[in-house]
Amino acid sequence: MHIIQYFQTSWLPNSPSLSSLLFFATIFLILELAYIIACFNTEHLYRFLHHKFNIGQYINNKPLRENQRKFEFISGSVTTLINTLIIFILCHFIIFQQTLSITQLLLDVVIATLVYDLSFYVLHRILHLPGLSNIHHHHHLNSPTTPWACISMHPVEAILLQLPLAIFMVFYQMNIISILLANIWFLIGTAHGHSNFDVFGHFKHHNWVNRYNRFHQLHHQKGKGNYGFLGTHWDRLFNSAIPNK
Ligand SMILES: [Zn+2]
Ligand SMILES: [Zn+2]
Repeated sequence: MHIIQYFQTSWLPNSPSLSSLLFFATIFLILELAYIIACFNTEHLYRFLHHKFNIGQYINNKPLRENQRKFEFISGSVTTLINTLIIFILCHFIIFQQTLSITQLLLDVVIATLVYDLSFYVLHRILHLPGLSNIHHHHHLNSPTTPWACISMHPVEAILLQLPLAIFMVFYQMNIISILLANIWFLIGTAHGHSNFDVFGHFKHHNWVNRYNRFHQLHHQKGKGNYGFLGTHWDRLFNSAIPNK
C-alpha cells in the first residue's frame, strides 16, 4: 500500500484523482509553510537579537538588490513546487508504513542528511563548471543573501539537487514522514546558512561556529570555493575551502 491509497481509502473513497490532488496539495502546503516559517523566524530572530541586544553581526553589509526578497521568495516557492512533485512521484515507489518509531525517524533523517550533504557538494561543484554555471547563476544573483535565498534557484538546479537523494530513498524505502522531516530540517539549516548573520560574531575563539555561519556567505561573495552543505569537511578534503581569515 502506498500513501496515496491510504488517502484514498481513509478520506475520499472512490476518488483516486481527487485524493492524489489532495495529497499533492498537502505536501506542498507543509513544505511551503516550513519554508516561510524557517525563513521568517531566522530573519526576524537575528534582526531582533542584533537591534535589541547588540548580539552577533551581519557578515556582508552590502545592500540588497531592489525586490531581492520578492525574487528569492518566488523562485523559492517554485523550488518547493518541484520538490513536492519529486516527493509525489517518489511516493509511488515506496511502501507506506503507518507506524514509525522515533529512533527510526531520527536515523532516517541522519542518513538523508549525510547522503544529501555528499551529493550536494558534488553537484554544487559540477554546477560551477562553465557549461552549467548559467543555471547556477540564478542562485548567485543573491549576494548578500537573506534566508529566503536558501532554495531560490533555477528549476533545473532544483531537480538536479533532489534527484540523488530521491533515488536513494527508493532503494532505502524511506517513510514519507522521514522524507518530509528531512526536507524541513534541510530548510531550517539552509535558511540559517543563508542568513548572512554570525550570531557568535563577537566570540573570536569559537572558530567552528564562525566557520559554519560564514562559509556559505563567503561562497556567495567570492563566487567559488566552500561548496559544502553542512560544513567545510568536503571542501577541506578536496581542497576547495576558502581560507578563513
Ligand atoms: Zn554556488
Ligand atoms: Zn547559497
